[in-house]
Amino acid sequence: MAIIISEEKCTGCAVCSSACVPLALLRSVDDGRLSIAIDYSKCNLCGDCERLCPENALRITERPVATPGVATLFACQMAKCDNCGRCFAPKPLIDKFKAILKDRGPRIVATLGLCPVCKDLAIDEGL
Ligand code: SF4
Ligand code: SF4
Repeated sequence: MAIIISEEKCTGCAVCSSACVPLALLRSVDDGRLSIAIDYSKCNLCGDCERLCPENALRITERPVATPGVATLFACQMAKCDNCGRCFAPKPLIDKFKAILKDRGPRIVATLGLCPVCKDLAIDEGL
């Protein structure tokens, strides 16, 4: 059995790693990139990650594991705040929100490009 994550569907939301009780799915952020890796030595094939993925991006397959041990399943850029430049969320997730909300006006889309701190400041200043 091997776990695969679709590059096209995954937003990097990390619901899967949060749901993994044995901590087999590992989310990490380094140098502006988010990675999700699997440690097959800890995975008990419970299927929670596959069931809970909101994007239907993660599948447990019948194919044999190519690399036993720890393997990276997905990686993406982190979005940087348009104001302060700090990395604050997976870029595919922010891009998806922007696409969903694009018809709600430029103010909404602009706030999606801000980290929580800058968003609060912008709202206080009447954005
Ligand atoms: S595989 Fe699914 S739950 Fe995991 S980060 Fe990607 S979209 Fe989120
Ligand atoms: S199948 Fe279960 S134990 Fe394995 S990675 Fe998914 S949630 Fe974790």
